[in-house]
Amino acid sequence: MDTPNFSFELFPPRTPESAAKLPSVIQKLAAVSPSYFSVTHGACGSDQNGTYDTLLSVVEQTGIETAPHLTCVGSTRANIAAQLDRYREAGVKRIVALRGDLPATAMSASAPGELHYANELVSFIREQHGDYFRIEVAAYPEMHPQAANPAADFENFCRKVEAGADGAITQLFYNADCYFDFVERCDKAGIRIPIVPGVMPITGYANTLRFCTNCGADLPRWMRLRLEQLQHDKDALVDFGIVVLTRLCESLLRNGAPGLHFYTINQSEPSLRLVESLALAVMA
Ligand SMILES: Cc1cc2nc3c(=O)[nH]c(=O)nc-3n(C[C@H](O)[C@H](O)[C@H](O)COP(=O)(O)OP(=O)(O)OC[C@H]3O[C@@H](n4cnc5c(N)ncnc54)[C@H](O)[C@@H]3O)c2cc1C
Repeated sequence: MDTPNFSFELFPPRTPESAAKLPSVIQKLAAVSPSYFSVTHGACGSDQNGTYDTLLSVVEQTGIETAPHLTCVGSTRANIAAQLDRYREAGVKRIVALRGDLPATAMSASAPGELHYANELVSFIREQHGDYFRIEVAAYPEMHPQAANPAADFENFCRKVEAGADGAITQLFYNADCYFDFVERCDKAGIRIPIVPGVMPITGYANTLRFCTNCGADLPRWMRLRLEQLQHDKDALVDFGIVVLTRLCESLLRNGAPGLHFYTINQSEPSLRLVESLALAVMA
């Protein structure tokens, strides 16, 4: 098996303490030569400058390609066009294009703003900049929690690809079969873009439950029970997470996943331990 490609997702630091720690996190992550970094973007246009500033500091510090996430919910075409111009001027070549999470007040209504869904954002980027940007979109092997049903959600995914997405990054999941099922559906639909699994390292019991609940990912019962049992022994819990995720990632890569995108939550150690353990596993 070829050395797998890794990318690392960061978010703009929200406190002076986390801002002070970030350069060291970036440096450690950069040392394993990821294909690129990505930087998240608050929904409804919040923290645009945080994304931009973090992106610039990653590029300055590492020289590694860095992609901003760009959300359209609650925004205007003019605002999105201005952000795209600014990113292009800064040398950005790849964008992760998303609708963004709806504000709680709009959960049951259609998305506010001028572009309502990510496929409209992808079309807008293509209209404005042709093929200049490589565009990644989100994919949901277990269905987006607000979708009417799996078929409607998959049709939406196809619309994003038709609009011009070059690649997709999945929501986190802990069950490899949902990824293989999604890739099979893509194959039957003639979708050939790379679908890269999004990997969330396990760092705690409560936060793993929360992440899964928020994004509608299944946490297998046996894993939940083991994490619950280990919740007061952080080292043992993290070790358990490494073993489980190494097995998951190894299975994904051996069965055709084109790479892995790590949700680092601005910590270097959990993702790096996984990369290291995985490098050993795939070379064995
Ligand atoms: C890799 C990754 C990175 C992320 N980064 C960020 C980030 O930086 N900032 C952030 O705020 N959030 C981020 N998110 C979360 C994401 O914004 C949310 O999951 C959001 O709720 C959906 O975004 P989307 O781009 O997938 O939306 P869309 O693809 O637009 O889909 C949203 C929902 O609308 C439905 N839908 C789509 N089109 C239609 C239509 N025409 N009619 C009816 N229903 C439709 C879909 O089935 C789905 O349920 C990320 C998610 C992933 C997987």
